[in-house]
Amino acid sequence: MFPSLLPNFIRADLAFAYGDGAWLYTVDGRRFLDFGAGIATSSLGHGHKHLTQTIADQAGKAMHVSNLYRVPQAEQLAQRLVDASFADSVFFCNSGAEANEGMIKMIRKAMTPHGRYRIICFDGAFHGRTLGTLAAGSNAAYRKGFGPVPEGFDHVPLNNMNAVRDAIGPETAGIIVEPIQGDGGVRVAERRFLQDLRVVCDEFGILLGLDEVQTGMGRTGRLFAYEWAGITPDVMALAKGIGGGFPLGAVLATEAVGKHLTPGTHGTTFGGNPLACAAGNAVLDVVLAPGFLEDVRRKAGFLRAGLEEIVRVNPIVFSEVRGDGLLLGLACVVPQAQVLAACEAEGLLALPASENVLRLAPPLTATDNDIEMALTKLGRIRVG
Ligand SMILES: *Cc1c(COP(=O)(O)O)cnc(C)c1O
Repeated sequence: MFPSLLPNFIRADLAFAYGDGAWLYTVDGRRFLDFGAGIATSSLGHGHKHLTQTIADQAGKAMHVSNLYRVPQAEQLAQRLVDASFADSVFFCNSGAEANEGMIKMIRKAMTPHGRYRIICFDGAFHGRTLGTLAAGSNAAYRKGFGPVPEGFDHVPLNNMNAVRDAIGPETAGIIVEPIQGDGGVRVAERRFLQDLRVVCDEFGILLGLDEVQTGMGRTGRLFAYEWAGITPDVMALAKGIGGGFPLGAVLATEAVGKHLTPGTHGTTFGGNPLACAAGNAVLDVVLAPGFLEDVRRKAGFLRAGLEEIVRVNPIVFSEVRGDGLLLGLACVVPQAQVLAACEAEGLLALPASENVLRLAPPLTATDNDIEMALTKLGRIRVG
């Protein structure tokens, strides 16, 4: 019989009833350490009191009013994101694909008057599942059967400045890059490469767009990953962790980019609703609290050191640690699906990624004890 839930996902046979911090409890009473965090999304873990209470309170007042009216929660969240970033202005939406779609549209809107509309993207990139973001992403399997996708995206290898320079033509409007490719295999864009991208964008008068859907909102131990490279983009897409598990996305832009989005040029029904923005504000309350990001950096160092040790003692299963902050990958020697299954048997939830990489993206609130337990479980993995 055809399933009532569309069969487009391969699902593990686990159903969770509730969570507490970094732990998830199944309906049949087993518990799992959640180092996937709903794909780097449950940034505050599960059942975080400040977040859940804020959502409950706001739900009882007003969930949705439309963008025909002012939304104080959105105004507040936008101002806080502006104050904490390069941006002058924020557009809210509901997902990462929508944020990237908005970023693509903003780059085109700003640059089309100059005859520039093409965007340089990278091999291994993932930007979402809309037609525009499929075109910007590099995964041909994701596009198969869905064509034609929009034209105007040129792909080059990551961390290769010569290839970028060669790809820039008179119609190039900008460059879109993930500071760390999550889906693509936890592949890090080198800091020097991000700096050089900024230089080349300024040189040609084109726009630098960052997809920080996965790396943003504290994941790398700074609010935004671009801070590590000491650069700023012209436009940036956020989602995943920004709502702590509540659907929320955002496009942050400089005034020079954002000023082209005049009334009527772009829109959304749900985007920037009071409930989602209340959730976003609650997440920011936690992530911007003094010492929080510092603690993320400390814990990330602890997790990374433990993973390096696991690779050292178990070269039959693991070959390399990748990533930065609390977005880390273990490149696998044996098929990653076997390792994921072994993790699950140990009571540890992790994520797949391309290039046979096991991806770890724990809640930013994971405790030292949670990390120790995850390392113990990973240290017990024996497959092949
Ligand atoms: C998850 C992800 C997206 C897509 O986000 P959705 O909310 O699934 O649409 C885009 N870019 C990056 C880097 C992501 O990790």
